[in-house]
Amino acid sequence: MRGHRLVNTKAFGYAPIMTVTVRFAPSPTGRIHIGNARTALFNWLFALKHKGRFVQRFDDTDVERSRQEFADSILYDLHWLGIFPDQTEYQSRRFASYDAAVDRLKAAGVLYACYETPEELDLRRKVRRTRGLPPVYGREALKLTDAERAAYEQDGRKPHWRFLLPNFKSDPFETERTEVHWNDLVRGEETVDLASLSDPVLVRADGTYLYTLPSVVDDIEMQISHVIRGDDHVTNTGVQIALFRALGAEPPVFGHHNLLTTASGEGLSKRTGALSIESLRESGIEPMSVASLAVLVGTSENVTAVPNLHELAEKFDPAATSKSASKFDPDELVVLNRSLLHHMSFAEVRDRLLLLGVSGEHAEAFWMAVRGNLDRLSDAASWWRILREGPQPVAELAEEDREFVGQAMDLLPEEPWDANVWKDWTAKVKKATGRKGKGLFMPLRLALTGLESGPELADLLPLVGREGTLARRP
Ligand code: GLU
Repeated sequence: MRGHRLVNTKAFGYAPIMTVTVRFAPSPTGRIHIGNARTALFNWLFALKHKGRFVQRFDDTDVERSRQEFADSILYDLHWLGIFPDQTEYQSRRFASYDAAVDRLKAAGVLYACYETPEELDLRRKVRRTRGLPPVYGREALKLTDAERAAYEQDGRKPHWRFLLPNFKSDPFETERTEVHWNDLVRGEETVDLASLSDPVLVRADGTYLYTLPSVVDDIEMQISHVIRGDDHVTNTGVQIALFRALGAEPPVFGHHNLLTTASGEGLSKRTGALSIESLRESGIEPMSVASLAVLVGTSENVTAVPNLHELAEKFDPAATSKSASKFDPDELVVLNRSLLHHMSFAEVRDRLLLLGVSGEHAEAFWMAVRGNLDRLSDAASWWRILREGPQPVAELAEEDREFVGQAMDLLPEEPWDANVWKDWTAKVKKATGRKGKGLFMPLRLALTGLESGPELADLLPLVGREGTLARRP
């Protein structure tokens, strides 16, 4: 029984307990982007919510375009996002299973050999259109006699194989409306009419597999209970449900989420590398900024920076996802990043700060002082340098401001300092110079940091220390 585990309980006898098992099934033909991350995360969060399993499946039947290095990079990107698959599978290692399924379909008479060339098919479609018929395959290959087949083979033509869709009563040339229904996790009631589709090619003339059959065979053998994927697969689902049944299996539950597009409405592609997870990581975006945007955009939830995947799982509801494509703005990632960093505890970043050279007894106070001013964690390194080594470059001050800062430095309290040192100092400076507001703090800020904006000076001053402050006398 697929998707089910039999549990022996004394009280209830054998009861089927459904184990939620999901899969993320990219082709390893490039680096994954934020749109692929949406699919991976929808699956991962669904598994988290239901204490289920997550299978990482590489759809690499296209050996020409698939590469192990891309599979490795996808796993790396998933780990970075916080996704740790329970199982990893490669379709290229599972051909025996697909071959066995082909044998079963052939034996059942629902996989048939076709010999048309693409040009012949094209011509047929045109003819059907001019006759006002839908441009679907007319099953002409089913009419071939053994002699005709033998002639094709003798000509050196190899057959491709089509799945006979169950859209007729007894005569395959008399198709009738045949609705396949499923209750989609995202889209609700869905219907595909099998009579509106061509019998899909499952095996090409060179013996290679198209995506349709291996995917179904794997979903059966890996006991996938829920297939969550992009809505570009809705029509495939009609065909695949028929294929599950032809292979004697109950179809899993399906959910098709909307796709992400750029602000100009373009789709994302693994090939172009646009908005790849790798490029976002390298530009200093936090994994939870990517995850928050990838999951929440195009849903009824507000897009906010969620600190971890468990909290994101709480907010995640596939049914709250929009049915149309969602535009998203990459600049929003920086906004989310700022918000995430602002709320990160020192414990969470201690190790990463260490790598940036931020360590020692002041490291925690430093983090608390600067975290509200960072676009990226790596920006902390430049603040650390400013505090330790002085402004780079030193700010040019007007003559009267230079004098003012000199005067202020003469009033700098003796150490030890407490948390009020900034307040106490500036109160004295205000009294002595009559300066206040921006006229007072901006020259001091420029002298201390070399920059017009940044963390609270009240927090920075103790980190610079009395000696460091005096060394900044202009
Ligand atoms: N390899 C397919 C894709 O990337 C998988 C679709 C599916 O999840 O079934 O579109």
